[in-house]
Amino acid sequence: MSTLFIVPTPIGNLEDFTLRAIRVLKEADFILAEDTRTSKKLLDHYEISNQLVSHHIHNEHKTVESVVERLQHVTSAALISDAGTPAISDPGFLLIRACYEAGINVTCLPGPNAIIPAIVGSGIPCDRFIFEGFLPHKKGRQTKWKELALEKRSIVLYESPHRLVKCLTEIRTFLGEDREVCVAREISKLHEEFKRGLVTEVLTHFEAKKVKGEIVIVIAPPAK
Ligand code: SAM
Repeated sequence: MSTLFIVPTPIGNLEDFTLRAIRVLKEADFILAEDTRTSKKLLDHYEISNQLVSHHIHNEHKTVESVVERLQHVTSAALISDAGTPAISDPGFLLIRACYEAGINVTCLPGPNAIIPAIVGSGIPCDRFIFEGFLPHKKGRQTKWKELALEKRSIVLYESPHRLVKCLTEIRTFLGEDREVCVAREISKLHEEFKRGLVTEVLTHFEAKKVKGEIVIVIAPPAK
């Protein structure tokens, strides 16, 4: 029986690749990658030379069937994304579900992901939280904020740098100016920054500079 390994890759610091991830990738019959050029650089660094096969979110629904067919003829294959854990705001879910339906084993390795270091490092309650991924850019965004305004748990969002100020402004509008937030930027990279405070303070901080890099926003539950 074949196994599809879901293999998390570093989100910045190359030292965060686990020994098991490297071994599983070296042993796989082939590696499905979101962007083969991006992954090639990472795999070259670890001298992993297995065949890379493109598995992109835009074609996932079309290619799942042929990938499952291919998986049935090998011992193991691995799925990686550009960074972090596949299927978390990345391609993977459709393939994982299709593998279960086709009787192919699925094993997800624990490993790098931006959510956990952001919420744990934020100092915001991390015993319970919800993850919303990227909010819709336009349609449905306001409705989502109205829904999130009723949420009693901590909230974790992914956001692009050019929408950060807009997002913090929306938090102030919909959740209130005294809401505590943390912007976790460039986690595990050279310019890592965790900016914590009331949303108004954090907004002022980021309005004053050009925002670059990758971002997770953590929003505290409403004060009692
Ligand atoms: N699958 C990835 C994971 O496990 O975290 C997430 C992929 S999603 C396409 C990319 C988003 O994750 C970025 O826009 C950012 O919101 C977040 N992210 C990824 N790496 C990050 C980092 N080093 N620092 C902060 N946020 C990061």
